[in-house]
Amino acid sequence: MAKRDYYDILGVNKNASEAEIKKAYRKKAIEYHPDKNPDNKEAEAKFKEAAEAYEVLSNADKKARYDQFGHQAFEGGGGFNGGGMNMDDIFSQFGDIFGGAFGGGGFSGFGGGGQRRVKGSNLRIRVKLNLEEIANGVEKKIKVKRKVQAPGTTYKTCSTCNGSGQVTRIANTILGRMQTSAPCNVCGGAGQVIDKKPADADAQGLKISEETVSIKIPAGVVDDMQLKVSGKGNEAPGNGIPGDLIVVIEEEKHDKLQREGDNLHYDMYVSYPEAVLGTSKEIDTVTGKVRIKVEAGVQSGKILRLRGKGIPSINGYGRGDLLVHVNVWTPKTLSKQQKEFFESMQNDEHFEPKPDSSDKSFFEKVKDMFS
Ligand code: ZN
Repeated sequence: MAKRDYYDILGVNKNASEAEIKKAYRKKAIEYHPDKNPDNKEAEAKFKEAAEAYEVLSNADKKARYDQFGHQAFEGGGGFNGGGMNMDDIFSQFGDIFGGAFGGGGFSGFGGGGQRRVKGSNLRIRVKLNLEEIANGVEKKIKVKRKVQAPGTTYKTCSTCNGSGQVTRIANTILGRMQTSAPCNVCGGAGQVIDKKPADADAQGLKISEETVSIKIPAGVVDDMQLKVSGKGNEAPGNGIPGDLIVVIEEEKHDKLQREGDNLHYDMYVSYPEAVLGTSKEIDTVTGKVRIKVEAGVQSGKILRLRGKGIPSINGYGRGDLLVHVNVWTPKTLSKQQKEFFESMQNDEHFEPKPDSSDKSFFEKVKDMFS
């Protein structure tokens, strides 16, 4: 099913301010909230859709990506950030939006006012990758300090809400008596509180643990891309669910290869005699060194294209190319004998520039390449 435009979903225009986007989302969230629309799948879908739109449009970075690339900005499969949101994500967003206006910033959630599972916080780490690792994909083992449930911690049913996680209040309003329920503020909606905990645990019964997390990074990632490893963030107390580990990719500069999207560029230098006589040269690629042939009479500025020697597409189809730029090195100093030789060639017809269509200018070639 094609996704609807995020601006359309919230009913705002593209120039809407942060405050307008927030206001529009509040309105939609209240309209489609599950408490107001029990057992209404359509409302639930709209509620989720609005939350996802707000997730993106409320974040300057994500909004800029969406404005430029549309929904494709967040499509990549394999656990990437963006995409669909689960209910825990949505409810955790509400703290910012409603600022406690709904009693602790929560609602009862789906499924008939049951317990709300508390989610642990997310962790963020940066991972440096070199170009070879990016081109081939890599599995990284990373040390992460995360909060885990301290062994020996025990829980008991919350006596304030009797384990339901909800506190019901009756309010008299101009519309009559209304029953509202809000998460229990003693147990935070979990329905459980700590009974016993070891001395080294914090107030939530958690302690810091250093763990090695293995992360499979697919080929083709780009600088600043975020990968989500579900459940490897901080754990939550009791029956809560762990947060996520957000891995931020940092691409290291390669000393010979320059990346441009999925294509790579390499500057190759040949000497004057090599350009005139032809040669073969060893160059760096992301899969090791390769030897390439340079034809006699090659012009400076010529681009040799090695198909498929670039970076694989992150979407899983195709690979970029390696573009080798030929640079003829002109000597700056000459021996007396060499100087005499070139002087004697000044009026030689072989040294007269005669560019034809195969010797197009650099700009024309670049234009061809991308057209
Ligand atoms: Zn409680």
